Amino acid sequence: MVIHDASFLTSNSRADLCPAPIVPEYAFIGRSNVGKSSLINMLTGRKGLAKTSSSPGKTQLINHFSINDKWYLVDLPGYGYARVSKTSRAEWAKMINYYLRNRTNLMCVCVLLDSRHPPQAADLEFMEKLGEEGIPFVMIFTKTDKQSTSQTKALVTDYLKKMSEIWDELPRYFQTSAETGLGRDEVLAFISEINKQWAPETDNA
Ligand code: GDP
Repeated sequence: MVIHDASFLTSNSRADLCPAPIVPEYAFIGRSNVGKSSLINMLTGRKGLAKTSSSPGKTQLINHFSINDKWYLVDLPGYGYARVSKTSRAEWAKMINYYLRNRTNLMCVCVLLDSRHPPQAADLEFMEKLGEEGIPFVMIFTKTDKQSTSQTKALVTDYLKKMSEIWDELPRYFQTSAETGLGRDEVLAFISEINKQWAPETDNA
């Protein structure tokens, strides 16, 4: 997929205020510092589109970007911040749950996982919840340039093993690097493929 246009649309704390669900949408989420902003910038080829290294937990908003006027890329506030109050955590859960359950054009959630860290409870719990709710998701292993291919492979195997304890059908996964661009073509090809399944409710009147 060639990205000829990527622009910021809105930041919202409420899913009902998000842009009209007229195109398919892909949401990116992960723990603080997982490399979400870097990945979004790498995928879109726009260096400053998503802000990198902002203070963890500060931006608790749902950020929409329009890509090629054909689909929305959504930057969701992350989870697993150590220094966030219970109240903020509860607010995050309320906002994200509402978004995930009600966003009619949400095609897939991309769960970002740092390829150097062993399976984390927060990630496993979040994916388990997605599975329970029947929300399609994929795993994206980030920062693969920071270690050897075999180390990444071992981590991926670890995750798949953990996931297979819960699910019969394992999610699809990608390996990426914002440094080298690894995985860009694969992730964008996946989005192109899913975009073909988009069938908006049409008014036949
Ligand atoms: P976010 O908090 O999830 O949005 O994470 P950021 O995108 O801000 O990245 C956190 C830190 O990891 C920054 O210092 C990035 O430069 C670094 N980083 C992110 N992705 C990669 C990657 O693929 N490779 C390397 N080497 N560093 C990365």
